[in-house]
Amino acid sequence: HQFKIDPSIFDVILRRPSRYVKVLNGIDLNLARGETLGVVGESGCGKSTLARCLVGLYPLQNGEILFNNQNVSHKTRAEQRDYNRRVQMMFQDPYSSLNPRMTVGQVLHEALSVHKMRSETEIPERINELLDLVSLPRDAADKLPHQFSGGQRQRIAIARALSVEPEILIADELVSALDVSVQAQVVNLLLDLQERLGLTILFVAHDLRLVRHVSHRVAVIYLGSIVEIGSSDSLFANPIHPYSRALLNAAPSIDPDKKNTTAPLTGELPSPLNIPSGCAFHGRCPHATEICKKSKPELKALDGHGEIACHHAKELALS
Ligand code: SF4
Ligand code: MG
Repeated sequence: HQFKIDPSIFDVILRRPSRYVKVLNGIDLNLARGETLGVVGESGCGKSTLARCLVGLYPLQNGEILFNNQNVSHKTRAEQRDYNRRVQMMFQDPYSSLNPRMTVGQVLHEALSVHKMRSETEIPERINELLDLVSLPRDAADKLPHQFSGGQRQRIAIARALSVEPEILIADELVSALDVSVQAQVVNLLLDLQERLGLTILFVAHDLRLVRHVSHRVAVIYLGSIVEIGSSDSLFANPIHPYSRALLNAAPSIDPDKKNTTAPLTGELPSPLNIPSGCAFHGRCPHATEICKKSKPELKALDGHGEIACHHAKELALS
């Protein structure tokens, strides 16, 4: 099964007073069933915007989001509900998405009945199953969100997302606010559930080690465009795009013997109000040449690597 989130005409423009800003610039994602695609990039590069767009939480001023070749925003209400069920999002802070006055049982009940996942009489049993699935005690159903720890609240958010039997989970900094030991528990739970349920996960995070750990493939985003995408192993071991190299090398090396040979990222992320011409990275790129200023490189597959959007990818791969 190939899922295709295919926003090939995916120009999302954010409206400011009398101004339009291009925040995502033609992003095309193919997700295989059961895979985790990590999404990395500096803060402000469009990672969270991408996540929000895919679940329809971003006001589109133009452009469209296609899911399996169907536009997700011009649909009937029933189709919209179906899409919202299939593609679920989880946030860094579940406080913002969990109603503080609703018990966990009520939260799950609401999700199950809105999406008609179970009949009224079957719902209590399903709530128990969901709590079991995320390893929360069954009496959690009678408690309010504030009575739980941060890690437990993320388990509740996962249970709610799973209640509607989604195909794709989008996790935006899911564990960033948690202590490292709790992070591992929540991430391991997620990976375990992924395997059992065949879930496809888009894992957006700034923690590169974590992304490497959970992802089969990784996409590197710069100023709203994917600049490199490939298998997690090959991308982390041997990134090609100069931006990927700088970004991944800025992280503490996973292999302590490996020397950090790439210059760290210098210069500031340009404002999305003023995206540079040609390759958007040219102002910060040590390898930029004339063509980089004029023409925007397309993502292209490179033998032995993933896909890279750089005019000089071939030479860089040899260097
Ligand atoms: Fe650098 Fe040019 Fe490649 Fe852009 S296209 S990353 S400026 S070498
Ligand atoms: Mg973010």
